[in-house]
Amino acid sequence: MGYHSPQVEVSVRLNTNESPVGPPEAWLDEFVAALGHVDWHRYPDRQATELRAAIADFHGVDPAQVFAANGSNEVLQTVLLAYGGTGRTVATFEPSYQLHGHIARTTGARVVSGERAADFTIDDAEIARVMGEAQPSVTFLCSPNNPTGLAEPRSRLTTLLAIAPGLIVVDEAYGQFASWSALELLSEDRTLAVVRTFSKTWSLAAARLGYLIGPSWLVAELEKVVLPYHLDVATQLAGTLALRFVDEMNDRVAGVVAERARLAELLSGQDVDVFPSEANFILFRPRERRGHEVWQALVDRDVLIRDCSGWPRLADCLRVTVGTRSENDAFADALSSVMTSEEVHA
Ligand code: PMP
Repeated sequence: MGYHSPQVEVSVRLNTNESPVGPPEAWLDEFVAALGHVDWHRYPDRQATELRAAIADFHGVDPAQVFAANGSNEVLQTVLLAYGGTGRTVATFEPSYQLHGHIARTTGARVVSGERAADFTIDDAEIARVMGEAQPSVTFLCSPNNPTGLAEPRSRLTTLLAIAPGLIVVDEAYGQFASWSALELLSEDRTLAVVRTFSKTWSLAAARLGYLIGPSWLVAELEKVVLPYHLDVATQLAGTLALRFVDEMNDRVAGVVAERARLAELLSGQDVDVFPSEANFILFRPRERRGHEVWQALVDRDVLIRDCSGWPRLADCLRVTVGTRSENDAFADALSSVMTSEEVHA
């Protein structure tokens, strides 16, 4: 199975959970200037020393507890190269981010899927069942979960920590938009790691930079399997310089969170069920119409969102990324026009 989001030519693109705005202009100036001073005939710093120090400083951890790679997808792949593979089992709780299972399978691991309830929460009994039966080497918890938007409560992670036999990876690609982070539970003697990305809040999806914070012994294992010089100079610089713009990043997060509330309000006035979100997107399900037809009718109105309607456990569900105020208004207007028109039939 591949994983992709169809890209069609539209004016309002709310399908891939990117930041609705670009990075600060001052970041771009500093980045471009820094590129002029790179020794391009030399390999990059294999340890990504400055970048890891900047990330460590941002989170108040040791640089030895930081692993950086080309997007959090490559972080996930590296984790699974080290801890997945033939003869091992990887656990996920579905529906969730499809690449957890997909990458695990590409390493030869067996994937066991726990089931979420109809409201997409996970109950402790299901966690106990999956841990007991599957004995996974790696368990993924995506919080806030993509594509549902729900953040896991702290108690769910502590339950998992008490019984999981292997490594627990909390994918916090949308962590900054949520009310709490698993980072607070990290320690050198817990088999727990948190994965984050520069693609969303940091407005740097084009740079492909993600990272993991975890025990230093785990980071050392990841360094054994990742390719030498995998992180190029430009990517390292992009991230190091971005971390000088924390205030601007916080402003962006606050803006998205405020727009998310407004978008949820706009959706609640329509004939759709809306799932509560702590991420930069919202999952919803038309009540009387087929999800795929609504998606197509939105494309016809120049608005692209994510069609999850054919995914297992997500019948008729659609996911919209929180955009700028005007993009969100354009989406809500288009949806309202679709829901009240006669062209789509349940
Ligand atoms: N994890 C989750 C849950 C995601 O939704 C995404 C982006 N679709 C990623 C990881 C990968 O992000 P990136 O590789 O851009 O860091």
